[in-house]
Amino acid sequence: MTDTIELQTIEVVGKAEGPHLLITGGVHGDEFESMTAIRRLAIAVDASELSGRLTLVPVVNEAAFLAGNRTAEDGLDLARVCPGDPEGSVTLRTAVALSQLIESADYYIDLHSGGIIMDVWPMSGYGLSDDPAILDVQRRMAHAFNLPVIWGTAGNLNGRSLSVARDAGVAAIYTEYLGGGRCSPEGADAYFEGCLNVMAELELLKRERPASAVTLRIEDPRPGSGHMQVQNPSPITGQFTPAVSLGQRVRPDDLLGFVTNVSGSQVHEITCTQDGYVLAIRTYPRVHENDSVIVIMEDLQPGDG
Ligand SMILES: [Zn+2]
Repeated sequence: MTDTIELQTIEVVGKAEGPHLLITGGVHGDEFESMTAIRRLAIAVDASELSGRLTLVPVVNEAAFLAGNRTAEDGLDLARVCPGDPEGSVTLRTAVALSQLIESADYYIDLHSGGIIMDVWPMSGYGLSDDPAILDVQRRMAHAFNLPVIWGTAGNLNGRSLSVARDAGVAAIYTEYLGGGRCSPEGADAYFEGCLNVMAELELLKRERPASAVTLRIEDPRPGSGHMQVQNPSPITGQFTPAVSLGQRVRPDDLLGFVTNVSGSQVHEITCTQDGYVLAIRTYPRVHENDSVIVIMEDLQPGDG
């Protein structure tokens, strides 16, 4: 039970000197766009054209991938238990291996998606670092990745891959792209292109920069602002039906969806308390009481558009 976890990594060592970039997928075992994109990068990136070093991990959380779930059998969320415990269960030992890899890098991109139960609006995110130089690099990485939405959130959340990076002084971003138990082909394409764009921004390779696809950037420094799994909890166990779509502009009292109990004798409406955009929607209809069903990215200057 206490064997060290060896992550399956692919290293591309450039002919020229340069920084070390780490790109990980499958921190959650049911997020497939990341895995596809990273395997494509392993084939596409040519050492003779690379300045620096690229470390690729298509599937960090193999135990969860094999279980067909977000988490492994121990039920622990790998993105909440970093830096882990070498004597602990499989997820805690995977967290040790992941954290060591992050600490060895100069820059880090962690690719996610909504997994089996959620869809997420395509976005790049980062923690609002206290270090202005790191924050500047993270903003540049998120812009270069070129998904439509950029979300900077409080840098004080712990247990995550990005908090390991923060503590090690490694500039890092994460990304989201749909989910719902599928592997979206456009998500895999966007991740592949996004990683190459960031590599060009960080001068690991030469590449023409595409026109910007960014349409919205919000930075929300309020404590806990990036914690998606706590918003709009279901009041009962039952079946959730959304009433909004990804990216929709919502305001207080708008209907977000409703939850119906098994017999249909109870129908609970979930109404919006925030002003902002629909960032994530639960796609798997069965919910337990207190499961988050909708995540809103709050607009801190509502009225601007
Ligand atoms: Zn994830």
